[in-house]
Amino acid sequence: MQRRELIDLRSDTVTKPSAKMRAAMAGAEVGDDVYREDPTVAELERETAAALGKEAALYVPSGTMGNLVSVLAQADRGEEAIVGDLAHVFYSEAASAAAFGGVQLRTIPNHAGVLDPAEVERAIRPRDVHFPRTALVCLENTHNRGGGRAITLAETHAVCHVARQHGVKVHLDGSRIFNAAVALDVPAAALCAEADSVNVCFSKGLGAPVGSAVAGTTAFVETARKIRKMAGGGMRQAGVIAAAALIALRDGPKRLHEDHSNAKELARALAESGHFQLDPASVHTNIVVFDLRGATDAEGAALAAAWREAGVLAHHIGAGRFRAVTHLDVTREQVRKAAEIIIDTTSRRRGAVHA
Ligand SMILES: *Cc1c(COP(=O)(O)O)cnc(C)c1O
Repeated sequence: MQRRELIDLRSDTVTKPSAKMRAAMAGAEVGDDVYREDPTVAELERETAAALGKEAALYVPSGTMGNLVSVLAQADRGEEAIVGDLAHVFYSEAASAAAFGGVQLRTIPNHAGVLDPAEVERAIRPRDVHFPRTALVCLENTHNRGGGRAITLAETHAVCHVARQHGVKVHLDGSRIFNAAVALDVPAAALCAEADSVNVCFSKGLGAPVGSAVAGTTAFVETARKIRKMAGGGMRQAGVIAAAALIALRDGPKRLHEDHSNAKELARALAESGHFQLDPASVHTNIVVFDLRGATDAEGAALAAAWREAGVLAHHIGAGRFRAVTHLDVTREQVRKAAEIIIDTTSRRRGAVHA
């Protein structure tokens, strides 16, 4: 069978390290980072803290561990954290905060990724012997299941303000915070200013092969460092991977606008085909979520399989809803080709749509 090149739009995590990254990795100055002797990790942590406007940062193996150490550093066993019902920390992290930290996650509705400050305030527990203490509110920007929506400064500040009034801390899952910063044309540090802790992924749109960081006060980072060690995330000559993350941090944000414009183009083509339900105006960043009109779960899965057969990988999230993500390893041309393949394959299976 002929092997065809697949256009992989499943996630921005699928990018491979560039030649520049591989060269930097090969030449990285390293030491034992558990002894805090790895200069490349130290440099990455300093630059990350500066980019996010925080005192300090800590390199962690993944965004999931970044969120875990951030929650556990700020909420004790038997305490509560308020999260959106579609938040990654609640939806997609295998209940880690509950399993490892005894932290109860209390969900409130996500409105296209946004939390309503009045609903946050209602969910904050009064002091009562029956109730857990509300320790934390978790935000997410951009919002993954919210279709990559960039949460504005005003929306962020409104929730942080309510939390602060009640003595509750805020963790920002900023796995794609640079996508939000680019889409909103504000510095990432401004979007993080009101949060006590922030998680950022180098391994998503920024293009590094591995790793995330958490940032906050020096005291927060030292607590997070201890919890990272407990979780088995203390790494030794981690400069080898931090070297690639440094390039991602320095170069990655500058080209995210290309991914965003490619996502918009994909969204417009899919919407115009008449097969799919989506509003291209709601595509803020590099994530395109779209629905197949009137599809069952089985139909959605079969369609994604047909696209794969024709050369395009996209996620079927379930019930005829799909997600496609643009990233630095897909060009404008490939995104156009992917739209064509998706639309042609869908037309062949379902019949052309006559508008
Ligand atoms: C990817 C992602 C994470 C987790 O990152 P991993 O590195 O895959 O563990 C956390 N939050 C959001 C919003 C994400 O998109």
